[in-house]
Amino acid sequence: MRRLDRETVDRIAAGEVVTRPARVVEELVENALDAGAERIEIEVSGGGTERIRVADDGRGMSREEAELAVERHTTSKLPEGELEAVETLGFRGEALASIADVATLSLTTNDGGPRATRVRVADGEVTVDATGRGRGTTVEVTDLFHNRPARRESLAAPATEFERISDRVAAYALLRPAVATSLDHDDRRTFATPGSGSFADAALSVYGREVARESATLDAEAGVDVGGADDATVSVRGLLAYPSITRASADHVRLAVNGRPVAMPDLRRAVERGYGSLLAGDRHPVAALSVSLPARAVDPNVHPTKERVALRGGDAVADAVEDAVADALSTADLRRSAEVAMDLDAALDPVESAPSALGDVDVIGRFRDCYLLCAADDELLVIDQHAAHERINYERLREAVESEAVPSKPLDPPATLSLAPDEAAAVEAHADELAALGFDAAPFGGGTVRVRAVPAPFGRVAAPESLRDALDALRDGADAEGRDALLADLACHPSLKAGDDASDDEAAALVSRLGACDRPFACPHGRPTVLAIGAEHLARGFDRHPRRG
Ligand code: ADP
Ligand code: MG
Repeated sequence: MRRLDRETVDRIAAGEVVTRPARVVEELVENALDAGAERIEIEVSGGGTERIRVADDGRGMSREEAELAVERHTTSKLPEGELEAVETLGFRGEALASIADVATLSLTTNDGGPRATRVRVADGEVTVDATGRGRGTTVEVTDLFHNRPARRESLAAPATEFERISDRVAAYALLRPAVATSLDHDDRRTFATPGSGSFADAALSVYGREVARESATLDAEAGVDVGGADDATVSVRGLLAYPSITRASADHVRLAVNGRPVAMPDLRRAVERGYGSLLAGDRHPVAALSVSLPARAVDPNVHPTKERVALRGGDAVADAVEDAVADALSTADLRRSAEVAMDLDAALDPVESAPSALGDVDVIGRFRDCYLLCAADDELLVIDQHAAHERINYERLREAVESEAVPSKPLDPPATLSLAPDEAAAVEAHADELAALGFDAAPFGGGTVRVRAVPAPFGRVAAPESLRDALDALRDGADAEGRDALLADLACHPSLKAGDDASDDEAAALVSRLGACDRPFACPHGRPTVLAIGAEHLARGFDRHPRRG
């Protein structure tokens, strides 16, 4: 452990370290990871200002090191002046000191000797004594921002602050699957990963069975030019949920660079490009990818909270990520169906506008129980039953929400849904909005949520799973756009699924109700509801030339 010299301190891109409880958790978890922990236990009370406790089984500190650790600009991690080649998550030596400035901090640590040390910092007073503890370190932070009333004021409700904490912890848990990571909130377990090293095991713990089952893991390597003498090897490992599982926001595309979770839009977009046409326009995938590069290609010292790093050869790295994702998904045999869909697009034109919206249309048949075939003047229309229903429900739902609350139907027995921990936390944060939408849901511990009532607009009962989309939309912002996305997702669930049998009358009613919609020709997610094949297109296909008869 050493004190950094002035010059190095000046080169460090430090900013305000502790802006909210989630930042405290991040810094403490990173210290535990840097200490080589195999197990990290995180406990949070309330929104984190009351108490945050992070315990690890890492290498710990001696008494001298522990005393130095809470001082500013002391670190064991920067080899002499070598800011260029840091491989640890920390290197600025200021997190513990900054936390101690705005909270009461107690650090108990043992580096393997017979005795542990406890260092307590409260109101600038440092006390040190000997205590008992096995190898590892426990840091407890209480009364966060007690001496920063303005900062305290600026925090969101405790449930929202916990949601952020849980989102951050989920990122470490998913991206560092070899470390057993647990998160407890007010004495209830939110999730715990086994530390097996498997991305799928971590995803099972964090997201539940559905995501773990509907996903592919990948482990790819590529040579990329990062501007050195030789190519560098970039490796991309992790987990990709199949496009059958998507989210309304991009928050579930998680990336780490050299073990550090980062929020880098360029890399996130590369992942989404890898999914390509498998994703509907406004949907985002669920993925956790760990990208590794030689340390010389990464500069972690460009952002005060290190949420971004600079990459040498960033575009080449992004391309490698995109390719790795695309390859993994194509071997999962999903790409083919997307290509078929595209060929169809070429032959059939989505209908964009028609003056007499489906006025004189006769349903003449059905194909595969999911498409209605209709004759309309000189066109053959193919209507996607499911998409059509979504559009109809969406518009009716929008109308209902504008006039009054959405009708709701109690579930008896209640349904249990396993959610990502940040989603479970969002249930509390958005309780009022969810109630207005017809949901009655409450967290039940262990990442599960009990759903006691669901929206039931027009006699159609929403699936309990639609809660997930509702949450995504609400978390994206309760603005008009967020609300519309939510309605779109709600409208989607109770709709006729492909394969449902509709009677002839129902089919005719569906077509006329679709025609009455404001925007009949796209489902609420923007996909076409109706494709048209012009008579002349058929004629051309059959080599009939109208002039010659
Ligand atoms: P940094 O992580 O940038 O070095 P911190 O203020 O976070 O700065 O920590 C200061 C030092 O305290 C670290 O360099 C490390 O030596 C020691 N330390 C902090 N937390 C732990 C821990 N959980 N286990 C072992 N050592 C730790
Ligand atoms: Mg640190």
